[in-house]
Amino acid sequence: MAASRKVGSLRLPPLPTVGELIKLYNLRAEKQLSQNFLLDLKLTDKIVRQAGSLTGAHVCEVGPGPGGLTRSILNAEAADVLVVEKDSRFIPGLKLLSEASAGRLRIVHGDILTYRMDRGFPAAISKAWEEVKDPPNLHIIGNLPFSVSTPLIIKWLENIADRTGPFTFGRARLTLTFQKEVAERLTASTGSRQRSRLSIMAQYLCTVKKRFVIPGRAFVPKPEVDVGVVHFTPLVKPQIQQPFKLVEKVVRNVFQFRRKHCHKGIRMLFPEACRLELTEEMMQRADVDPVLRPTELTIPHIRALSDAYAHLCANDPNLFSYDFREELRLKHLGRNHHTSVDAFKEMPSAPQPC
Ligand code: SAM
Repeated sequence: MAASRKVGSLRLPPLPTVGELIKLYNLRAEKQLSQNFLLDLKLTDKIVRQAGSLTGAHVCEVGPGPGGLTRSILNAEAADVLVVEKDSRFIPGLKLLSEASAGRLRIVHGDILTYRMDRGFPAAISKAWEEVKDPPNLHIIGNLPFSVSTPLIIKWLENIADRTGPFTFGRARLTLTFQKEVAERLTASTGSRQRSRLSIMAQYLCTVKKRFVIPGRAFVPKPEVDVGVVHFTPLVKPQIQQPFKLVEKVVRNVFQFRRKHCHKGIRMLFPEACRLELTEEMMQRADVDPVLRPTELTIPHIRALSDAYAHLCANDPNLFSYDFREELRLKHLGRNHHTSVDAFKEMPSAPQPC
């Protein structure tokens, strides 16, 4: 396979520029797909350098488009580059690049949100998760539309927690672009204004570094916003040892009243009938000051809260499925449809007794 090829002679031969390719194939950016291209190869080289050495690496590039970033990855001497592109208009240009790459570029015409990356690379590249100094030589790199990059990173964070998807191969590293504000949230530390759900979910599972900001004017066409390049290395040991969905639920509730004391959001984890009692028990068990603001909570605080919530859920198997929004929705429905209190009680997701 290409990965075993001797590196050193792996630079691309002369090719039409990315700009010329765009003209050649009439690749007008589709607003609907939020396409903004990077044509400056110095900039794409800089993004690729953030991934570290790619010599001999396996790389999955998401959303290659006209292939600027792809060229930089190939020029960085990656041995095996798999690109996943949804828009068929880019496939002929990528094929041209593939022909010039001496078999190092594989093209998948598909959607990264459903693509099974665990099937995209040979099992032999896997490294044990606990391997501290020698993670798998597998990198995920991408300049995706913002509408895709946020749901995708949440999906990949869950994959990291479960060691599924791309992370069946071990602790694959990611270098991705986000809208600058999202990049700031991903990397925000405790106490900062940008601290949010995303900061906690990313940082309990990964070392997350914001590398640099690309001004919007560097893209064609220019987006409304600037762009941040973020690098993720999955931690050998996640900072919270609870199921991803449980941590996500605690964090979602904590942050729903971002400016209020954290116990206000935590209360909503519990049905009304036992709300006060269980909130107090959870705060005491976690030993977290209830008047801290959500943005002031550290990951150890969230760990303690998640552990305490897991303990309460173990005592009451119905507790985890409780969702106060659903309760509100049903109440609202009940009011609007003059549902009797008894009928409401019989509804499947009616508020649960403690
Ligand atoms: N990487 C190129 C660059 O930097 O110039 C293109 C970037 S453009 C912002 C995003 C690319 O991702 C487009 O080529 C678009 O068609 C592709 N894309 C959008 N959604 C996708 C998805 N769900 N799966 C795969 N590719 C996608």
